[in-house]
Amino acid sequence: MEPLFLYDTRTRSKAEFAPADPRDVRLYVCGPTVYDLAHIGNARPIIVFDVLFRVLRARYGADAVTYVRNITDVDDKINARAAERGIDIRTLTETTLADFHADLTSLHTLPPTHEPRATDNIDGMVSMIETLVANGHAYVASDHVLFAVASVDTYGSLSKRSLDEMVAGARVDVAPYKRDPMDFVLWKPSKPGEPAWPSPAGIAVGGRPGWHIECSAMAARYLGETFDIHGGGIDLAFPHHENERAQSCAAFGVKEMARVWMHNGFLQVEGRKMAKSEGNFITIRDALGRMSGDTLRLAMLMTHYRQPIDWTDQRVQEARGLLASWAAAAEGVAPAAEADAEVVAALSDDLNTPAVVTRLSELQRTAPDALAPSAMLLGIDLARVAEAIAAGEAAKSAALTVDVDALIAERLAARAAKRFDEADRIRDQLLAEGIALKDGKDENGAPITTWSFTS
Ligand code: AMP
Ligand code: ZN
Repeated sequence: MEPLFLYDTRTRSKAEFAPADPRDVRLYVCGPTVYDLAHIGNARPIIVFDVLFRVLRARYGADAVTYVRNITDVDDKINARAAERGIDIRTLTETTLADFHADLTSLHTLPPTHEPRATDNIDGMVSMIETLVANGHAYVASDHVLFAVASVDTYGSLSKRSLDEMVAGARVDVAPYKRDPMDFVLWKPSKPGEPAWPSPAGIAVGGRPGWHIECSAMAARYLGETFDIHGGGIDLAFPHHENERAQSCAAFGVKEMARVWMHNGFLQVEGRKMAKSEGNFITIRDALGRMSGDTLRLAMLMTHYRQPIDWTDQRVQEARGLLASWAAAAEGVAPAAEADAEVVAALSDDLNTPAVVTRLSELQRTAPDALAPSAMLLGIDLARVAEAIAAGEAAKSAALTVDVDALIAERLAARAAKRFDEADRIRDQLLAEGIALKDGKDENGAPITTWSFTS
């Protein structure tokens, strides 16, 4: 099999991927903070890394890949939102997590091997923090534990930021107890009413972990001190991943936390940053009310994962059209046993999904039997797509208030009698019902008219 090439954010280059152990390939992706419905920007890493998971499983074996995606269920945003809504934190995190799982079901993602929750892993965080304090990489100040950034000489090398740049960024509103403005929180004291656990490092008051240490501890527990691939959106490269890497390397005395760091580009909507204040905020739930999970998936994968995406109606229409034509071409054809070699080659080149899309449209004409197994590598099931289209058409037919066949017959009669105004009126009436007509001739040269729904 040809090699798999992946782009590594740390080295800024594409290199052949070589897992430490091909029988146990290990992937960690930062999961959601469960305080609100996930938006379509959050859907991007979910879908991109689901495709990577499928590619790795196809290559190394379904049982040879361990995929961990955590749930952040202790965080200041969660505390604030629960207080705002006057509900308890557990109710907020449980209902948000259930919503997230329902969204994932509609997006047809494979479940990760492990989905650890931060609150079930506090002991691992506490013990990492104890180690970091003991070996001089962290210190206690005002009931907080802070990571001493200056104690790690490669800090900044993942996100390629200069020390000056990072210091300037950190200088805004520096807590007085920090030795260095760049130092970040590993543990902080909880106020009354906030979730609290017994603190590490001899701190008398109860507290809770910082976000970065959550991922370091969960990744270590399920994947070990070093693992193969760490992923997330590009906004996480700094400071989140830089900090995860500093903590893990310093606590375990390893050179690298992950061999490869992968980051997806950002998604914007109709040319603007997606934000509640912009009125262009789309949750996965909203989007799935208007399109199938397969359409959303393809609309996402039409762009390479490292490029920014502009999410537009036109993109969604294009994805819908492609899926309909692939599904129609694959229908009634016995599927090939394996995915097309060019599709596999494109995915092996740093997940080049736009090249896969182009190739699938070629296969539609040249080898439709290869369509279904090839699309499946993107997590797109063409039989499911065909069923959804048929169900949609059936629902639209059932909702029709006119007799289409009778109107077509009337129109043909009007045309035969050269009453063209009447024929055009019927055409317009049907168009208003969402029905487009196509005129042609049958095998004897007699005029016939077929119809289809316009969308
Ligand atoms: P968050 O809940 O903000 O930590 O985000 C969860 C995941 O979604 C992270 O991997 C983020 O990088 C990613 N993400 C958030 N917003 C966007 C966006 N607009 N486009 C692409 N990825 C995003
Ligand atoms: Zn993380």
